[in-house]
Parts: sequence; structure tokens; C-alpha cells
Amino acid sequence: MKLERLLHSQGFGSRKECRALIRAGLLSIAGETIDDPFADVSPENLVFSVDGDEWQYREKAYLVLHKPANYECSHQPQFHPSVFSLLPAPLVTRGVQCVGRLDQDSTGLMLLSDDGQFIHYWSSGKKRVPKVYEVATAEPVTDAQVEALLAGVQLHDEPAPIVAAACERTAERALRLTVTEGKYHQVKRMVAAAGNHVDRLHRSRIGGFDLPAELAPGEWRWLDEADLARLA
Ligand code: URA
Repeated sequence: MKLERLLHSQGFGSRKECRALIRAGLLSIAGETIDDPFADVSPENLVFSVDGDEWQYREKAYLVLHKPANYECSHQPQFHPSVFSLLPAPLVTRGVQCVGRLDQDSTGLMLLSDDGQFIHYWSSGKKRVPKVYEVATAEPVTDAQVEALLAGVQLHDEPAPIVAAACERTAERALRLTVTEGKYHQVKRMVAAAGNHVDRLHRSRIGGFDLPAELAPGEWRWLDEADLARLA
């Protein structure tokens, strides 16, 4: 693959911008500067540096972000910074999107990708992927509330009650709730319908994939093959 095309595919700007970047001597491979934009390279397992930052060629980008509170999952945020401001610019340029959304005040596991099929597959409610939420509630959690969530609660505008796939009280004012749909404000609305109120909401797991413990709020990392397999 021509170097200018490779850099363009990885989000380093237009073809013209990538040619300029290469000609300016900002690209190196294995410590060697390559200033010919039309040099042919094999993208497979390619590690390259742009202006001192190391990158690996990836045909598609798959990442996990620990979303902090007070960030919006939108490219045009209204009241808070965008989660995309937490990512390096080339990832945003290459079109990485959130896989489903978390509310601005929710925290935790957020998947992002530029693979349209992956985004559709994992964000579509039809797949019924279990998502686990740690919920801090305003009022003490009662047995009746847990039972109501497990039996199904009626949400406004929904034809049938929504049933929690799993629900347990984890502290006096805390719940672990598993849902398989991805409806708007689903957990907050379910907990409200059961007679309590969500104070804080944290997503800890999607499918079989846990939020990596090493990721502090605001940090991200690439997903590897093992992570992707665990999601399924
Ligand atoms: N349910 C909600 O109510 N909010 C979220 O951010 C995620 C699930």
C-alpha cells in the first residue's frame, strides 16, 4: 500500500495532508524516516511513528473507553465536552463512533469503533446483549423493587413490560441490574418505575467483557482479539 494511502486510512488527514506530512519527514518506520509518500509498504503488523507517536496499522479500529461523568457521547455536545475529545485526533478523523450511548452523567464501559457492521451488531437491541449496570439509588432498595424489576416494569411508550435479565441488591442503596435492550434512559426509567431513583449509573460489563480494571476514568485502550471474543 502506498504510504500516503496508508496514513490517510489511519486518520492522519486528507491524502494531500498525508503527503505533506510524509514529505516533511514526520513519518518513520523502524527508526528510519521515509519521506516518499508513494513508497510501498505492507500494512500487515506495521508499526510506524508520526511526529514521534507510535501507531500500529489497523484496518478497523475497536476500542474501549472508561467514560467519565460529565461527558457527552456526541460529536456536537450541548453542555459538556464530548467523549471524542478523550481520544487522539486520528481516531476521530477516521470516523470512530460510540457503540450505543451512555447518558452524560453515566460512567463506565463504552465501546467505540469505525466498523459500521460491528457498531450496528452491538448496539442493536435485537441482539439482546446483556449489559450490566451498577446503580446507586436515592432510596434504600426493597425486596419489592428487586422483584418488580425481575418481573418486568411498564415504561411509558413501551407496549410490554421490560424485564431485567438479572437484578440483585448489592448494598442498602445499590443494585446490580442486567438488561438486554438498549432503550433511551432505560435503567433510569426502569428503576423509577420500580419506585426508586438512580443517583449514579456505571456500566461494568457488556456481553462477557468487563471494563478493564486498569482503565481510569477518561482512559481508553485498543481491544484485542481476546477482548472481541469475550464480547460475543
Ligand atoms: N440506562 C440509562 O438510563 N442511562 C444510561 O446511560 C445507560 C442505560
